[in-house]
Amino acid sequence: MKQPILLSTPTMHTEEQCYIREAFEKNWIAPLGFNCDSFEEEVCRYLGQPLHGVSLVSGTAALHLALKLAGVKRGDIVLCSDLTFAATVNAVLYEGGIPVFVDSERDTWNMDPVALEKAFERYPQAKAVMLVQLYGTPAKMDDILAICRAHGAVLIEDAAEALSATYRGQQCGTFGDYNVLSFNGNKIITTSGGGMLVTKDKAARDKAFFWATQSRENEYWYEHKEVGYNYRLSNVCAGIGRGQLLHIEEHKAAKKAIYERYKAGLADLPVQMNPYADGDEPNFWLSCITIDPSCAVDPISVLEALREENIESRPLWKPMHLQPVFAQYDMVYTEEAAVSADLFRRGLCLPSDIKMSASEQQRVIDCIKSCF
Ligand SMILES: *Cc1c(COP(=O)(O)O)cnc(C)c1O
Repeated sequence: MKQPILLSTPTMHTEEQCYIREAFEKNWIAPLGFNCDSFEEEVCRYLGQPLHGVSLVSGTAALHLALKLAGVKRGDIVLCSDLTFAATVNAVLYEGGIPVFVDSERDTWNMDPVALEKAFERYPQAKAVMLVQLYGTPAKMDDILAICRAHGAVLIEDAAEALSATYRGQQCGTFGDYNVLSFNGNKIITTSGGGMLVTKDKAARDKAFFWATQSRENEYWYEHKEVGYNYRLSNVCAGIGRGQLLHIEEHKAAKKAIYERYKAGLADLPVQMNPYADGDEPNFWLSCITIDPSCAVDPISVLEALREENIESRPLWKPMHLQPVFAQYDMVYTEEAAVSADLFRRGLCLPSDIKMSASEQQRVIDCIKSCF
């Protein structure tokens, strides 16, 4: 069997172990602790804005607390990116919210501002917008922000895939009223599993911390006035994150080099790389292609050819409006048919692991070429 080439796996350095060792030496193995505090500060400093963070067990937990902070209650409408991972939408349902899916545009594959405006015409009472920065490519933030402001809606930014990407010089994960990061094993940096909620609002940060620590009141005994959650990140895992954060720019540069090699290597084929706008700097978390509509090659046949070579690839996220679990919810399009579904039908995520060598990547490129 040939050496496997994978989509995106953790890349470790040496500093992670130093922070973990310190946690062991101090016997600080609990959720909470100095690594959590420092990780929160370091991430906020990296984001370059006056922000407050709370480190959590997952990006999904951060999404859940973001929806609570946004005040989403049973029956409230939340306008959501349609082309995303299901975790984005599951969090809306945890709070009894009603997702309405908003289609993608073709320039960045993110939420289409034109469709968002239409969604507000249909649902003027919508409480919040859940915007995903897909595959680490920034959305059209100026338009999205203006629309949210005009309609008085809370913006939650799901930047789980987009840490280190910038939109007109501003870091993703800083645009929303509440911003969500993920440090799952496949993301650009990892804590093995983890996430962070980031906000400019210190009181909101403290409230999220309170919920995440079982809503425990400040008494000698365990006093509870609200439902709580056990969502805090372990001090050991936060140590991994601190070590990883030191290398994030390196990870981003390596991801970009992978994207550029695919772009050059596949230039003669009827395929397009995942697009981004001028002035934006994606983090290139995953390199993706779409096969031109005029070409009969099916992405699944490419996936199967790659699999024969022990190379992992995956279709784009299957749009939420096509998921059986969310079939009952409404969807707002710009074009006649859903752009998200069109991208899904023609798209494929390619191996984007930063430990992949140029010669291994050439194996991927050669295999893809053999399908056309
Ligand atoms: C990974 C991811 C999440 C969930 O993050 P976890 O840390 O795995 O819970 C949410 N949204 C998007 C878009 C993601 O890619």
